[in-house]
Amino acid sequence: MGTLLVLALVLVVGYVGACAWWPYMACRRCHGSGKRRSPSGKAWRPCRRCVGSGRRVRLGRRIYELFNGEDR
Ligand SMILES: [Zn+2]
Repeated sequence: MGTLLVLALVLVVGYVGACAWWPYMACRRCHGSGKRRSPSGKAWRPCRRCVGSGRRVRLGRRIYELFNGEDR
């Protein structure tokens, strides 16, 4: 059981560490473009989910900031 716990801990630390290095993923709604296209494909508006940035913060990054207090 102890080995399994250590393995889980290593995986979590590795994931949070990776999210600290690469904090963003492409927004799922607009696939990283930051735009929501109209059915015609010519007009677009900023994606509401990512506010036009096309990126979203990964869950692990939030955990990292929680422990490092970067949101002060
Ligand atoms: Zn988006």
